[in-house]
Amino acid sequence: MVNAQADYIPEETANDLKHFDHIQLKNIIHGKFDPAVHSAFVKIDSFYSFKEMYMLSEAYDAFVAMANAAAKDSINLKIVSATRDFEHQKTLWENKWTGKTKVDGKKLNLVLRDVIRRAVKILEYTAPPGYTRHHWGTDIDLNSVEPEYFETDEGIKVYQWLSIHAVEFGFCQTYPAKDENRPHGFNEEKWHWSYFPISKTFWEDQISQFSSRNISDFKGANAVKKIKLLNYLTSINHCGN
Ligand SMILES: [Zn+2]
Repeated sequence: MVNAQADYIPEETANDLKHFDHIQLKNIIHGKFDPAVHSAFVKIDSFYSFKEMYMLSEAYDAFVAMANAAAKDSINLKIVSATRDFEHQKTLWENKWTGKTKVDGKKLNLVLRDVIRRAVKILEYTAPPGYTRHHWGTDIDLNSVEPEYFETDEGIKVYQWLSIHAVEFGFCQTYPAKDENRPHGFNEEKWHWSYFPISKTFWEDQISQFSSRNISDFKGANAVKKIKLLNYLTSINHCGN
C-alpha cells in the first residue's frame, strides 16, 4: 500500500506545501483564497469535470493518472465538486440553513426551529464554511453526491474500483460507513475522496489550530459553536496512517 504510493508520487513534489508560508497555509485551510488565481492550483480539464473547477496541482496530476487507469477498466471517473472557497461553502451551508435548498425534502428553517438541531441536521453531510476539506484542493466528489447512485450497477462498479485502486494513486475515502472505529461525524460518503499525501498535512494544521472562536461569518455560526465540530473533523478515515 505504502509502496504503491511511493512509486507514484515524485519525491521532490510530495511535499508541495513547503512552498507555502504559514499565512498562505492558514488561508487555504479556511478557504480564504481564490483557486482560480492561486499559483498552486490548476483548472480541471472539462473531460474530467462537470463544470469549471480547480484542484491543487499535485493532487490533480494524481487524479488524472487515476482516472486514466480507471478508464482502461471501463470505469468513468468525473469530478462533481473540487475546490470550494469560503464564499462557495457559505452559500451551500446557508441555502440549507434558510430552506432555499431542501434537506431530506424539507425546508429546515420551518421544520427545525431549534437552531442546534438544525445545524446538526445540516452537518450530516455538509461542513460549515471555513471547515470543509473542499477548501484544500485535495478533496473531490466523484460521479454523484447522491447515495442512491452508489446502489446502481454503475455506482457499485465505480465504488468497487475506487475501493481497490484509489490508494495506488494516493486517494482514500474520507468518510466510510460509521462503525466502532468511526462512531461520530459526517455520514458515509462514497463519493468523497482525498489526496492523502497533502490533505494529511492540511488536516493536521486544521486540528492543531482549531478554535471554536473562529467559527463565524455565516448564518447559524453561533449554533455550530455549541456543537463539537472537532468531533466531526477528526472522525475520518486515516488511510492506514
Ligand atoms: Zn465532498
